[in-house]
Amino acid sequence: MELAVETRGLGKRYGRTWAVQDCTLELPAGRIAALVGPNGAGKTTLLHLLVGLLRPDAGEVRVFGRDPRAVLADVGFVAQDTPLYRDFTAAELVTMGGKLNRRWDAPLARDRLARLGIPPDKPVGKLSGGQRAQVALAMALAKRPRLLLLDEPIASLDPLARREFMQTLMGAVAESETTVLLSSHLLADLERACDHLVVLQQSRVQLTGGVDELLDTHRTLAGPRAGS
Ligand code: ATP
Repeated sequence: MELAVETRGLGKRYGRTWAVQDCTLELPAGRIAALVGPNGAGKTTLLHLLVGLLRPDAGEVRVFGRDPRAVLADVGFVAQDTPLYRDFTAAELVTMGGKLNRRWDAPLARDRLARLGIPPDKPVGKLSGGQRAQVALAMALAKRPRLLLLDEPIASLDPLARREFMQTLMGAVAESETTVLLSSHLLADLERACDHLVVLQQSRVQLTGGVDELLDTHRTLAGPRAGS
């Protein structure tokens, strides 16, 4: 089984406070995983460690068996509240991406945005929040990443836009072999889409594994319902 992400005792601290502590987890390739935890649990810090934006203060992290900085071309990242170039149109952003990245699939991005009815010639700053989130996702997917990390991509969207975003993501993953890890403070938004779960609480991994397996364990621990 190929591992997309592997961490051992991973930690990051700010001053004396550990934002991520003793984090050991494995994320098999080809899965859609949810990284769930309340505000301040350490989700953003963990994702930044996986992308190589932060250096660990303890332990280690491997992405496809390598240091994250060695696989930058294989990893797509949609940061929380991604600051897109708001004065540019979606069409311009797609063209710009192609100049920066040789693996860039501009036709795929254009096609995806057209299917979603996103106006290609309107400045991104004038699109709705849901449309901007879709543009950010299309840009990340155009890179054809082997691993796609998304930091609370649907937190600020309304229920319809959340559903549309998750549909686009699931459709894109079904067409490729991309491994996805997306964070949220609400599991309810993701459980239907995800087959793997990582629960963070107070900087530590509380639970990790396949969703089915975790639900089975939970049922076993809970035992038969009273009165049944
Ligand atoms: P949210 O859902 O609110 O974005 P999160 O789960 O993503 O939260 P992090 O942003 O990783 O959590 O923060 C984890 C802890 O680290 C928090 O206590 C936060 O205040 C602290 N923290 C994060 N970044 C910094 C920083 N640059 N300097 C100091 N403390 C930080």
